[in-house]
Amino acid sequence: MMAKAIVTGCSGFIGSHLSERLLRAGWHVVGIDRRGPGDPEAGANLAACLAHSRFTFLEDDLLEMPLRPLFAGATHVAHLAAKPGVRGGWGADFAAQYVRDNILATRAVLHACAGQGIRRFVFASTSAVYGEAPLPFREGGKALPLSPYGVTKLAAEHLVRLWGKRHQLPWVILRYFSVFGPRQRPDMAFRKMMATVRNGGEITLYGDGEQTRDFTYVGDVVQATWRALRAPAATERVINVGGGRQASMNRVLRELARLAGGSVSVRRSPRVEGEMEHTRADTRRAAKLLEWTPAVGLRAGLEREWAWLNFRDALRTEDTLPALRVAALAGGEGEQRG
Ligand code: NAD
Repeated sequence: MMAKAIVTGCSGFIGSHLSERLLRAGWHVVGIDRRGPGDPEAGANLAACLAHSRFTFLEDDLLEMPLRPLFAGATHVAHLAAKPGVRGGWGADFAAQYVRDNILATRAVLHACAGQGIRRFVFASTSAVYGEAPLPFREGGKALPLSPYGVTKLAAEHLVRLWGKRHQLPWVILRYFSVFGPRQRPDMAFRKMMATVRNGGEITLYGDGEQTRDFTYVGDVVQATWRALRAPAATERVINVGGGRQASMNRVLRELARLAGGSVSVRRSPRVEGEMEHTRADTRRAAKLLEWTPAVGLRAGLEREWAWLNFRDALRTEDTLPALRVAALAGGEGEQRG
């Protein structure tokens, strides 16, 4: 039977890459997202998918559409739609965004899956569920979120277990660790820092810069998710997806300076509430159950994100278009190969 996947959050950073990956594998993909081509960021993310004959796009909110009929006939579900971000959720946005998009929407998606014969349900969770847990973060260890975001994603994980058990839905929960690479969300650190460097501005660094993250390249995250969609049913199904190497923000700044061909100016600011000091994934379970290990390191991944950001912005600037065309013609690579 032909695989037909539903990808929620398909217009986002990771969801758009995942959708492209599934299409490349010959799958049919139904992408659901409330942000569509009318939104410049989402439109750019979705462009390749929308041009594909096996891609169907549904622009709507998961809580405002009749989901069950749409899920009939689906073989796989990757639920990525969420309100991400560890900094928010301390005020009215907790109910309006975090509870709504992370808990209520997950329940709605699970409800739509029940009894539909879905072969695999993959939920995109996060390292933020670990919070204060001891390093390295192990799937069987404690989850003590430090942010409202982490709390809502942990609640959603419990819903996945609960619905999975009640409705025989084979599920895998992937805990992604700080994802970066082309199409990174505009609110995320690397993207913001790169944009600032390009404009010659000052980067705001929270804390002393010695806080570390287990950064994970988006292509690696997509590969782990692909494996999770296809892996044989496993008994331990919460799986860390981490880059495998910790790096400090000071190291990231040095890499950015190298990319920019000079130094970067930094303004120091106090630490932000809800931010974890360090994250590090124990990735042995991913290696065992998914036969997955990360392939792209911090430097190579940053280079790709930097190239994407520059190319993307260059294309948007009218006066650089003729120069780019001339450069492309002068290179003539396509003609030589053809
Ligand atoms: P993103 O914001 O780029 O993508 C999420 C998409 O979901 C958005 O396009 C948004 O419009 C859509 N969405 C949210 N609520 C919706 C709703 N109710 N109805 C319809 N669409 C809705 O985020 P991302 O960075 O690509 O993250 C994808 C997933 O991975 C999320 O579940 C996030 O929690 C998880 N995650 C991301 C990271 C990271 O570093 N980016 C780390 C850990 C976990």
